[in-house]
Amino acid sequence: MNYHSRKTCAIINLPALVSNYINIANLAPQSETIAVIKANAYGHGAIEVAQSLSQHVPAFAVAFIDEALVLRAAGITQPILILEGALCQEDLAIALKQNFWLMFHNLEQITWLNKQIPPYSEKLWLKVETGMNRLGLAPNQIDDILAQLSSEQLQNIVLCTHFSNAEQLDNPKTLLQIKKLAQVNQAELYKKSLANSAGILNWPESHSDYNRLGITLYGATPIPTKNLPIKLTPVMTLQSTIIGLKQINTGESVGYGEKWQASKPSIIATIAIGYADGYPRNAKAGTPVFISGQLAPLAGRVSMDMITVDVTDIDTVELGDLVELWGENLPIETVAMHMDTINYELLTRVSARVPKKYILA
Ligand SMILES: *Cc1c(COP(=O)(O)O)cnc(C)c1O
Repeated sequence: MNYHSRKTCAIINLPALVSNYINIANLAPQSETIAVIKANAYGHGAIEVAQSLSQHVPAFAVAFIDEALVLRAAGITQPILILEGALCQEDLAIALKQNFWLMFHNLEQITWLNKQIPPYSEKLWLKVETGMNRLGLAPNQIDDILAQLSSEQLQNIVLCTHFSNAEQLDNPKTLLQIKKLAQVNQAELYKKSLANSAGILNWPESHSDYNRLGITLYGATPIPTKNLPIKLTPVMTLQSTIIGLKQINTGESVGYGEKWQASKPSIIATIAIGYADGYPRNAKAGTPVFISGQLAPLAGRVSMDMITVDVTDIDTVELGDLVELWGENLPIETVAMHMDTINYELLTRVSARVPKKYILA
């Protein structure tokens, strides 16, 4: 069933993904750059993304084992780092069989590790708490854990931490977190992993054996565009079409709750995308969309299947015209600002109702 009467779709530019990966990895030539493809590759399609990167990356990362098993079923053979680690004892046996690298971040996971037969022999990532206060072992717990491991396991250790503020260039927290990881007893003996996208872009001192590249891979930025050290290409363009056009008079309202009123005679375009597609309902009036090379402001509440836009000032508009909600011509960061959210959330919230069209070359 490949027929789509509605033209709404997410266009996924896979060559752009690959060139983003190569360009960003080149910023940290001494590091191995792991591609983070959790949450269905930030909404881009994990299998397609993994397939297009598989020649380039040393490993992938996902949040939990279910996401990694989907990749194995699709024939992806690279090691896969499981960022939340084992969620039950059985995950260890699966990891061992499937070449998954588990993150260990609490003592319960360490008891599972000690019970595992045959012993866990994949890379053993130890997550160290340095200030995020989400997942992580206290720095002073690490010694004791290392003492319980076999010499084979000790050779596979990666000390890891995650930054809370790396997108803020003027915030010293990141340097403090780097220092705390280095202060783990005998840290110099082990491989390390610190940088996420913002670490790779902003903090060369955070580059280590493995960097973990997420959002920037997709051409979206966690830092102001003017501070980017490289050019990124947005990988997703979210697109729809105009399915209704009408003229309204001064004082008439548009949409549910009469939240928007025309201050002059206006032309309203209705576009076939709504909150059921992942276009957030809290988008404010004025959120831009891109039509015929120009920007037009959202007018009225987002509906389940539609939005309404004031196209009075657009030169020519017709039924069926393409509309870009974000992507190549309209930065997702700009759109996110009008919705009190971030690019990460917009990308991962595009719903299954929106077909993906892959650009392969
Ligand atoms: C999601 C995630 C990343 C990737 O972060 P980006 O900001 O998207 O680059 C890296 N490390 C961990 C532990 C994560 O959960």
